Amino acid sequence: MRSLLITGIGELTTHAGEGVLRDAALVVTDRVEWAGPASAAPAADSAWDAEGSAVIPGFVDSHAHLVFAGDRAAEFAARMAGQPYTGGGIRTTMAATRAASDGVLRANLARLVGEMRRQGTTTVEVKSGYGLNVDDEARSLRLACEVTSETTFLGAHVVPPDASRESYVELVAGAMLSECAPYAKWIDVFCERGAFDVDESRTILKAGAAAGLLPRIHANQLTRGGGVQLAVEIGAASADHCTHLADSDVDTLASSSTVATLLPGAEFSTRSPYPDARRLLDAGATVALATDCNPGSSYTSSMAFCIALGVREMKMTPAEALLAATVGGARALRRDDVGHLGTGAAADLIVLDAPSSLHLAYRPGVPLVKKVLHKGVWV
Ligand SMILES: [Zn+2]
Repeated sequence: MRSLLITGIGELTTHAGEGVLRDAALVVTDRVEWAGPASAAPAADSAWDAEGSAVIPGFVDSHAHLVFAGDRAAEFAARMAGQPYTGGGIRTTMAATRAASDGVLRANLARLVGEMRRQGTTTVEVKSGYGLNVDDEARSLRLACEVTSETTFLGAHVVPPDASRESYVELVAGAMLSECAPYAKWIDVFCERGAFDVDESRTILKAGAAAGLLPRIHANQLTRGGGVQLAVEIGAASADHCTHLADSDVDTLASSSTVATLLPGAEFSTRSPYPDARRLLDAGATVALATDCNPGSSYTSSMAFCIALGVREMKMTPAEALLAATVGGARALRRDDVGHLGTGAAADLIVLDAPSSLHLAYRPGVPLVKKVLHKGVWV
């Protein structure tokens, strides 16, 4: 692959949280070949001038639900008028998804992934979880495989209305898992009151692990349940949401390799209290930020918005929030080739229409992503 020299970088962040380089340059192919001061840059096949812009690693969105049909704008309006969020709307999207053709689902997925790319997300995890039967879960994952290698089997999103709890857990851990495993890297469970309890979640995640999938968990979103403890017990890569934590949950996460993935778009969109990122960071836990993009509880695809929420509402510093949206997401996906711009990493980067990455939180809601490079190719 031909090499590209990016010159005139006003502020280069190769690894968030480790300081920045001013008047910098980068040489990339599909990988980062070189990063350093512009005055020392080697020659390349072509060059592009960033004209003083800040350059940061592409965002890693480690939690998204993108295979679905329809939307739930009316449910959002009702919630903003005072109705509480219970998670019951998942069944509404399930019905729309089952009724949709492959073409409709594929087009909606492509639209959302495109929306993410233009906003700087270069790695995205995509879950199933709106089919909730063998054929529609397998179909969702087949489609997800067309857009990402980070695919997650979430048959255990909720118990569908046409199944009994006991038989559904058996199905998810049995026939559904067998059909879905070839298309999934990860297995996930919504461990929550009203969804799946700790024992059911353990059964499903262990069956997934036995089939070669790696576990991650929706944990402690709505209540202080046992999801976080289960995540660490089974060595999950990530415990996602972590909104309601006991001190023991924070300590357990801090002394584990399980990432605490915070999804503040969900609290924003359900008008709920935010997770306490400060408490997790001060305890030494690894924190990731992700969108939870889904049509019910968090219909945002913007990592910049999540960074702004992390800083303004969750007491993260701008550097911590950028770290969580890049390296944190990568660690939640057990990846070390994305989320940073060290030599050898994927050439996934964002050129900001701003002199500094601080502007992501400082100028919330403003489209600051000027250009995105994905695997060495401009998006
Ligand atoms: Zn989710």
